Amino acid sequence: MKLATLKRGTARMAAVVDDTQALFWPLADLFPEFRQHPADDMVAAIARLHQRQLADPPKDKGYALQEALLLAPIQRPPRNVFCVGKNYRAHAREFAASGFDASKKGAGPADPEKPIIFTKPWTAIAGPTDAIPLWPNIDQAVDYEGELAVVIGKKGRGISKAAALQHVFGYTILNDVTARDLQRDHNQWYLGKAVDGFAPMGPWIVTADELAGMDLQVRTTVNGETRQDANTSDLIFDVPTLIATISKGMELLPGDIIATGTPEGVGIGFNPPRFLKDGDVVEVEISHVGRIRNVVRRVAASAARQTATG
Ligand code: ZN
Repeated sequence: MKLATLKRGTARMAAVVDDTQALFWPLADLFPEFRQHPADDMVAAIARLHQRQLADPPKDKGYALQEALLLAPIQRPPRNVFCVGKNYRAHAREFAASGFDASKKGAGPADPEKPIIFTKPWTAIAGPTDAIPLWPNIDQAVDYEGELAVVIGKKGRGISKAAALQHVFGYTILNDVTARDLQRDHNQWYLGKAVDGFAPMGPWIVTADELAGMDLQVRTTVNGETRQDANTSDLIFDVPTLIATISKGMELLPGDIIATGTPEGVGIGFNPPRFLKDGDVVEVEISHVGRIRNVVRRVAASAARQTATG
C-alpha cells in the first residue's frame, strides 16, 4: 500500500494512493477512526496502521490523482530527520577524496567502522515536486544526495537487529540536499544539511510488506543524466543495523524518518565538482518506490527575507 499526503483544492489530507490506476482515497473516508484526527496527520495514521492488514480500497470511490498535488508524505515528523553519513563504500571514498569532508583529517580508512548519524530539521522537508531553493549566499556548492528513507511505525528503544524490521512502517525517497561549503567550513554537517527546502521527499510511503526482502535500485539524474545508480545491497550498514544503532539510547517513534545514506556520484565526486545551478532538474528514483522530481530555483534576496509559509 502507498500512503501520501496530498492537497486537493485547499484541503490537505493523508490518503491511500494507487499510482497505477491514478486514484486516491482520503484516509478519513476509508477509516472512520481517522475522522477524529486532523485529516493530514500522517504520523497518527502511521502509528495506527502499522502492520495492520488492510483491504483494498473500493475502486468505485477513488478520486483522480491528477486533481491533487502530492506533498511530502510526512510534513512534521516527531523530530529531526535522522541521516547516515558515508554508508556506501564508493561514496565514502569519493567524499574522502573531495576535500569537503571536514570530519576526516589526515590519513585513515574512508569506510566508517560504526554508522555516522547526523540530522536534518523537519523544517527542511519539502514536497516531491517542490523547487530546491538556491538561497542568496548559499548557491555556490549545492549538491544532491539521492537516498532511500525508512519510516518508523512502532516505537522502541534498544531494538535488536533481529527485531528491527518489525518497527519499519515503510519506505520513501529523500534527497539529502547539501550546501557543501557550509558542510566543510563549519566542521560539522548540520548547517549545510539544514537549509530550508533541502529535504525534498516522497512521493509517498510504500508500506514495508510490499518491499520485504527486496534490494532496491537508487538512481539520481540531473537534467536526465545519470549521476547515481546503486543498489541498497551495497549499504555498509543495513537498515536493521541503523535502527539498532539509533535506538540504543533513544526511543524511536512512529513517524521518525531515517535517510539511509547516499551512493557514489554526488556533485563533489567529480573533478571539478558539478554543483547544482538554477534550472537544473534533479530526479531521484527508487525501484518499487517511485520518483521525486525537483527543479533548482534561485531565490531573490527580497523573497528570501520573507517568512516561509510552507
Ligand atoms: Zn545524505
